Amino acid sequence: MHVTVFSTKPYDRRFLEEANATAGHSLSFLDARLSAATSGLAGSADAVCVFVNDEVNSDILASLASMGVKLVALRAAGFNNVDLEAARREGITVARVPAYSPHAVAEHTIALILTLNRSIHRAYNRVREGNFALDGLLGFDLSGKTAGVVGTGKIGEVVCRILTGFGCTVLAYDPQPSAACEQMGVRYVPLGELLALSDIVTLHCPLTPATHHLIDAQALGRMKRGVMLVNTSRGAVIDTRAVLRGLKDGTIGYLGLDVYEEEADLFFEDLSQRFIGDDVFARLLTFPNVLITGHQAFFTEEALANIAETTIGNITSFERTGQATHEVSVEKIAR
Ligand code: NAD
Repeated sequence: MHVTVFSTKPYDRRFLEEANATAGHSLSFLDARLSAATSGLAGSADAVCVFVNDEVNSDILASLASMGVKLVALRAAGFNNVDLEAARREGITVARVPAYSPHAVAEHTIALILTLNRSIHRAYNRVREGNFALDGLLGFDLSGKTAGVVGTGKIGEVVCRILTGFGCTVLAYDPQPSAACEQMGVRYVPLGELLALSDIVTLHCPLTPATHHLIDAQALGRMKRGVMLVNTSRGAVIDTRAVLRGLKDGTIGYLGLDVYEEEADLFFEDLSQRFIGDDVFARLLTFPNVLITGHQAFFTEEALANIAETTIGNITSFERTGQATHEVSVEKIAR
C-alpha cells in the first residue's frame, strides 16, 4: 500500500523502515503534522499513518476520504485525536497500537516520581556548579506511603507492581478493576477516597469525555496538602489552570508531567531558539517542584520497535483482508 506518514522524526523512519523491510509498503515520510493545512499532502495514498498530535477531525477525514484514503494507522495507543464517528461516516478504517510497552511508560512514571521526590533534577545542576549543600533537597521514603493509581489497564498495572515493590500501599480507581492488581494487594476505592488518602496520585486512564479535566479544582480540593501529582496519560485529564493554582497555594507539593493539554504547539520540536508563547506552560516551568518531559514516556527502543511492527502489521492485514488487526471503532469502544 502507499502510505503517507505524518509527523515523522528520524527515529520513526528508522523503525518503520526496518519493520517494513519484508512487508514492502511504499512509505512517504513527512515532517509535517496532519492538519487542515497539510491534509492535501496525503496525495494518492491509500493510508495515512499518524501520531498523537495529528488532527484527525471530521473535516480532515472528509478531505482524506475524498483523496481515496481508506485507512488511518495510528502509531499510538490513545485515539482521542480521532473522530471515530466521522471515520465511520467516511468509510475510513482506524487502527492503533493497543500495547507496545507498558513498561516504557510505567518506568518513566516512576522516574518522574523518584526525580521529584529526591530533587535529582536540582541536585544535578547544583553538583555541576560545585554546590554540594543539601538544603532544599529533602525527600521522603516511598516505602510506607500511599500511592493512588487512576486507571489500572496495561500501564497502570505495571505502575502498581513497581510501587508495590517499593513498599507503598497502593490504592486504585478504575471502572474495570484488574484481577492481577487485586492479587498483588492493590485496593480499589472510589476516586474521592483515593484522592483523599494518597501521598502520590498517578494518572493512567485514557482521555475520554468522562476523564476530561478529571483532576480539576474540586478534585484538588479533596487531595492531601503537598500531594505529588503525576500525569503520563493525556494532558487534558488534568485542568492545568486549576493545577497551577494548586501549586501556588501549596495543595500540590510536586507535579510531574509528560503530557500537557496544549502540547501540540510545543512538544516534539526544538523550540530552544524561540520563545514559549504559552503563558500557562511558561509559568509551570518556573516552579522548582515541577518536572516536565515532552511526551517521552513511550520512547524506548523496545516500544518504538513494537509500535513500528504493529503499525506495519495493521497496514498489511488491511491490505490483505480489508480489516486491520487492531481496529478501533465506535462499535468496538462501546462494547
Ligand atoms: P489501557 O486501555 O490498557 O488502560 C486504561 C485503563 O483506564 C482501563 O483499565 C480503563 O478501564 C481505565 N479507565 C477508563 N476510564 C476511566 C476512568 N474514568 N477512571 C479511571 N480509569 C478509567 O491503556 P494503557 O495502555 O494502560 O494506556 C493508558 C493511557 O496512557 C492511554 O490511553 C494513553 O492516553 C496514555 N499513554 C501515554 C503514553 C506516553 O508516552 N506518555 C504512551 C502510551 C499511552
